[in-house]
Amino acid sequence: MAGSADFDLYRPAEEHDMLRESVRSLAEAKILPFAAAVDEESRFPQEALDALVSSDLHAVHVPETYGGAGADALATVIVIEEVARVCASSSLIPAVNKLGSLPVILSGSEELKAKYLGPLAKGDAMFSYALSEPDAGSDAAGMKTRAVRDGDFWVLNGVKRWITNAGVSEYYTVMAVTDPSMRSKGISAFVVEKSDEGVSFGAPEKKLGIKGSPTREVYLDNVRIPADRMIGAEGTGFATAMKTLDHTRITIAAQALGIAQGALDYAKGYVQERKQFGKPIGDFQGVQFMLADMAMKIEAARQLTYSAAAKSERVDGDLTFFGAAAKCFASDVAMEVTTDAVQLLGGYGYTRDYPVERMMRDAKITQIYEGTNQVQRIVMARNLP
Ligand SMILES: Cc1cc2nc3c(=O)[nH]c(=O)nc-3n(C[C@H](O)[C@H](O)[C@H](O)COP(=O)(O)OP(=O)(O)OC[C@H]3O[C@@H](n4cnc5c(N)ncnc54)[C@H](O)[C@@H]3O)c2cc1C
Repeated sequence: MAGSADFDLYRPAEEHDMLRESVRSLAEAKILPFAAAVDEESRFPQEALDALVSSDLHAVHVPETYGGAGADALATVIVIEEVARVCASSSLIPAVNKLGSLPVILSGSEELKAKYLGPLAKGDAMFSYALSEPDAGSDAAGMKTRAVRDGDFWVLNGVKRWITNAGVSEYYTVMAVTDPSMRSKGISAFVVEKSDEGVSFGAPEKKLGIKGSPTREVYLDNVRIPADRMIGAEGTGFATAMKTLDHTRITIAAQALGIAQGALDYAKGYVQERKQFGKPIGDFQGVQFMLADMAMKIEAARQLTYSAAAKSERVDGDLTFFGAAAKCFASDVAMEVTTDAVQLLGGYGYTRDYPVERMMRDAKITQIYEGTNQVQRIVMARNLP
């Protein structure tokens, strides 16, 4: 198998290895030192944003035509993975910039792309994705946010819930009902700007993990926007939202993978230092077997995630299955591996003095957002390869 064309698709090329090395050293030098404080103080990781923007890593997926780095899906995955390895909250900067802007890239007009992707690529603006509502989570098509046409404008009213980086981002892709009689085919997508009159934000949610990533409600109160802010044709917003998730669930898999790798790396070092019964605990086979299982699961998740990224880049027919499978598998692995890392540190692992406790809390969200893992299984079952 090794050396066959198919196998090579899943293997990062040399340029991807170089990218990994440079993101890792940036993340360890400029993001890791603040990760514990960002979590403890539940504050936005401004140091991470500054470091990512100065190295052009904050939105690597933006095509070169619009001033971006033009990174492929695998390169984007590697950036997110390496940032998440040291700080999951910070990894939501490149991940959500892709999630928020991908609807514009996939379905937007040239004018929308030119207007909104340039500032994103430059680091002048971040992009969020507003699909979920208080009463429409897994059943996102049950949303109530309404957009009504008024001449050359649309007027939006409603509440979006759980919006990552809300309040920090300048731009929001907002899904809203334009024809209530059509359910998902009556939903359209729009770009809403933070500065549009009638846009406001709720208080940050008090979360279990990813505490450095602000999650807020977005209130739309008679927000009047020009008609050309619609992304794609009327009624195609839900399809665009789902197409987006096919690609971006792979970035959540990358985040999960990075968190798991960070926990394994920390535990590997710890078991060599910690002595019980007169020797390092890493000398005990019971501990070695746990580390072996953790590494095996991470590698399996990595292969599935990279393979899904290759499919995202080519927009293969089985992308929907692979995107859901990668997200579901990698996030379950992240939860298992981080829980095992806490176990390997014993009582110390259970405290905030060591990073594995934070990693275990951060891992949990990867099983929930961009569709819970039950929803991923529904998606997979409907799109079996
Ligand atoms: C920190 C955070 C950040 C987020 N960021 C964003 C964002 O940026 N943009 C955005 O739009 N959304 C975002 N979300 C929303 C997220 O995608 C939803 O929370 C998620 O889709 C689940 O919806 P819900 O919370 O309403 O749960 P519910 O849909 O109420 O689900 C509750 C439980 O029921 C299960 N369930 C529901 N339906 C089924 C079914 N048919 N079969 C089996 N089980 C089922 C679920 O799996 C879950 O276990 C975020 C959420 C969080 C917590």
